[in-house]
Amino acid sequence: MIECVNCNAKYDDNEVIYNCKECGSVLEVAVNTDEININKETFDCRKDTLWKYKEFMPVDETKIVSLDEGGTPFCKCEKLGKELGVDLYVKVEGSNPTGSFKDRGMSVGMTKAMELGVDTVGCASTGNTSASLAAYSARAGLRCVVLLPSGKVALGKLAQAMFHGAEVLSVYGNFDEALEAITVLALEKHLYLLNSINPYRLEGQKSVGFEIVNELGWKSPDRIILPVGNAGNISAIWKGVREFHNAGYIKDLPMMTGIQAEGASPIANAFRKNTMDMVPIENPETVATAIRIGAPVSSIKALRAIYDSNGYSETVTDDEILAAQLELARKEGIGVEPASSASIAGLKKLVEQGEIDKGEQIVCIVTGHLLKDSNTGINACSEPIEIDADVDALKKVLLNKD
Ligand SMILES: *Cc1c(COP(=O)(O)O)cnc(C)c1O
Ligand SMILES: [Zn+2]
Repeated sequence: MIECVNCNAKYDDNEVIYNCKECGSVLEVAVNTDEININKETFDCRKDTLWKYKEFMPVDETKIVSLDEGGTPFCKCEKLGKELGVDLYVKVEGSNPTGSFKDRGMSVGMTKAMELGVDTVGCASTGNTSASLAAYSARAGLRCVVLLPSGKVALGKLAQAMFHGAEVLSVYGNFDEALEAITVLALEKHLYLLNSINPYRLEGQKSVGFEIVNELGWKSPDRIILPVGNAGNISAIWKGVREFHNAGYIKDLPMMTGIQAEGASPIANAFRKNTMDMVPIENPETVATAIRIGAPVSSIKALRAIYDSNGYSETVTDDEILAAQLELARKEGIGVEPASSASIAGLKKLVEQGEIDKGEQIVCIVTGHLLKDSNTGINACSEPIEIDADVDALKKVLLNKD
């Protein structure tokens, strides 16, 4: 069953619907954990993908479209953790098939699309959603249309969307405007929308929460920190950990901590004012293009996740984002795109502010791979030294000998 998160209006699973007809708010797929009778040990003998938890995925198992997404690395970060005085783990979502966590949502969303029998899927995207949708629609054999904000999409992501055969339209305007336009096309039934306003996307993404508590030996960390753009992922992970809590697999719940870029921070602004009223940002701007979003569609869900979990929201500057990106790469060997390192930048800031206690067990989610935005990576480095393939010349440079 699909439910409105605001007025609780209910809709059939197979109704193609993106907003509540009664009040216009966002929707959620209701999963009744009382009806799921599976011993948590059973998961351990299954392949390490998100479908390991298929009982919690409200779609037809015979229609699964998958690239073995999920089961991503969960790296303990000793060095960085020690410096900050916390027990730090990083969940590396860049290791998904197309290089971001979007694959989790797309696998379940595309499965729903097959169940519904649609022939065209579409999205507006800051980049990663389009890359993922293009790959999964190729796998499913469906037509794929994507709208991207002109000039604001990282090169790797654009290449993926085009290479996998999507029809890519570069729109004059920002993400929010592109999403508004494609939503109208979806409502007129020209395509099935697979942005995170589609509640089935979030059903896939909640598996990040499943994996974290499973990795920790069926325990919740004290805190989960992640970047927030359209605010679907933080909502999804919160839904996931609550479902495992309801199922009796874990006793505690994590403080959900959402980090936004200073130039695109409507959620953090609302949190500061301790309100549910998100005021959209007219012209969002940040180097972290994946979270360059001014009017997050899942703001209600995200703010509830933050307030209900006794969590937090904070902003970080572009400089802090880029510094954290480099530090994670050089200290821990984990290469991520700028949006992802907002979680690390946020962690550092909240430790400094004393908001995070010493010794907390923290999981930072790094959402996308370094190579997604190779230009930003290259720009942070100096030019390589040009040299002859000559041993003496090499020694001169490397060993500093004459
Ligand atoms: C989509 C995306 C985000 C933002 O996630 P939301 O669910 O929109 O809040 C952050 N980082 C990366 C790399 C992304 O692709
Ligand atoms: Zn409603």
